[in-house]
Amino acid sequence: MGVVARALLGLLLPERCLACGTGEALFCEQCRAALLVLHGTLCARCGCPTAWPVERCGECAGRRLAFASARAAVAYRGPAQALVGAWKERGVRRVGDLAAELVVELVPRPPATALTFVPGEGDRVGWRGVDTAESLAVALAKRWELPVLPLVARARRAERQRGLSRAGRRANVRGAFAVRARAAPPRTVCLVDDVYTTGATAAAVATELRRAGARAVHVVTFARTVRR
Ligand SMILES: [Zn+2]
Ligand SMILES: [Zn+2]
Repeated sequence: MGVVARALLGLLLPERCLACGTGEALFCEQCRAALLVLHGTLCARCGCPTAWPVERCGECAGRRLAFASARAAVAYRGPAQALVGAWKERGVRRVGDLAAELVVELVPRPPATALTFVPGEGDRVGWRGVDTAESLAVALAKRWELPVLPLVARARRAERQRGLSRAGRRANVRGAFAVRARAAPPRTVCLVDDVYTTGATAAAVATELRRAGARAVHVVTFARTVRR
């Protein structure tokens, strides 16, 4: 279905919850209540939920991570996964604002002077017309009153991360990003993405930002994979 046909259909159909398909709201109360919010004790570095506060956790210990911290609003499962699916695969733009509201509510504003985002892949963004990380960054910037700087570009095409092992993901994104020519990252920058899975993408982009002069990169995502 074309973009126009879909938009027209959207005007005719009553709104349904993007996660469960019922009700009359874009995201219903029950699905909102079913989100697993990440606000207990967390690993200081990667934001993984932990039993007690730690500097590094079982997931990130021993890994060279170029970012200073990573935080997410919710666990990537259940209704959060459905929302991201509607956002990424179906191109539902309003998820960007919905996700930003949840992030602002649940994640402390990072100590950064600007936001940037993980760039989407042109041809995958194209037909859906929505770049999820960029739209989340723009929606967060409004709420946190920070500028958004498009600092990073794709240097080469990477395969989809889905289905790859952690080592595979790391290799897949190595050299996949580059700071744009003449872009000067601020000393402290917040890197926005939709989902944090293993941290391989965030670490690869943070590496480039630091090479280009950033001292600290704080990663913020809407959702995060939580094992267990
Ligand atoms: Zn629902
Ligand atoms: Zn950790």
